Amino acid sequence: MSEQPALIDPFGRHVTYLRVSVTDRCDFRCVYCMAEDMTFLPKKDLLSLEELDRVCTAFIDKGVRKIRLTGGEPLVRKGIMTLVESLGRHLRSGALEELTLTTNGSQLAKHAAELAAHGVRRINVSVDTLDGEKFRRITRWGELPKVKDGIRAAQAAGLRIKINAVALKGVNDGEIPEMIRWAHGEGMDLTLIETMPMGDIDGDRTEQYLPLSVLRAGLMEQFTLEDIPYKTGGPARYVRVRETGGRLGFITPLSHNFCESCNRVRLTCTGTLYMCLGQEDAADLRAPLRASEGNALLDAAISEAISRKPKGHDFVIDRRRNKPAVARHMSVTGG
Ligand code: SAM
Repeated sequence: MSEQPALIDPFGRHVTYLRVSVTDRCDFRCVYCMAEDMTFLPKKDLLSLEELDRVCTAFIDKGVRKIRLTGGEPLVRKGIMTLVESLGRHLRSGALEELTLTTNGSQLAKHAAELAAHGVRRINVSVDTLDGEKFRRITRWGELPKVKDGIRAAQAAGLRIKINAVALKGVNDGEIPEMIRWAHGEGMDLTLIETMPMGDIDGDRTEQYLPLSVLRAGLMEQFTLEDIPYKTGGPARYVRVRETGGRLGFITPLSHNFCESCNRVRLTCTGTLYMCLGQEDAADLRAPLRASEGNALLDAAISEAISRKPKGHDFVIDRRRNKPAVARHMSVTGG
């Protein structure tokens, strides 16, 4: 391990978690995430897999203990398993505590065993509905049976799974009890997420936004929700559902701001570092990365970026301000 000083931001928060969007491309077009006709970044602007490894390693040397690969869809990036394999060395050395990913599950059946072999222990799979027709409407291009096959393959490979579902008013809110029973019945945690105003989409977000406080109140009519101190290093607050015995998480960026304990930064596939999901300020790591073979410039750029980490986001969804809070889509920064 290196002698580099730890990454501590101006508010005393320790940055120990790096999320890496390895591609902005995706084989789904979820209605709340992307427009159907998206313009993706030119391939020449992408960091190579070797460069991604170099940046991740520089962060690990500065005390990052958890890395999550995301996107876009991380499993559609060509050669992605090479990166997973190479980052696996930091798990074996003990420098990294956890390497994980967030996926839509479409390619999981193909990759699950290899992910497990390289040291991945748990993954998040995004599933917003258990109704195949609705699944296609939400994802525009996705097929639910394929995702379920992926989940089965991941379980067979020994990966623990958390299902992420975005709560969409009038779309899947009525189905959440069924999703709780399904996820918990399969031994998976379920986390509900509020829609965040990121990037232009074809529809109107005020129509989709459902405060989780409202959803939670509805769930309490049929379930007993017991607050538990369980933490995964993320912003979810968990309850145990007494009737199923499973864990249910709530991620509430809008109705409850969770920035005080933020421990993370986000790297895009072009080497831009966002210090906050909900702010525009960013640092370019690609130029210092490519400027020399040594890491001195890169290390300095990372430290400088962390010294600018903002206190928090100020997402608002309301009718007066019918514009995204940040212009980039979630697929760029990595959800
Ligand atoms: N393709 C992968 C997946 O589907 O999980 C990883 C990237 S995706 C951007 C990560 C997560 O962000 C997904 O669970 C997705 O539902 C969520 N997401 C995308 N746009 C969002 C938004 N505007 N508000 C809240 N969650 C969003």
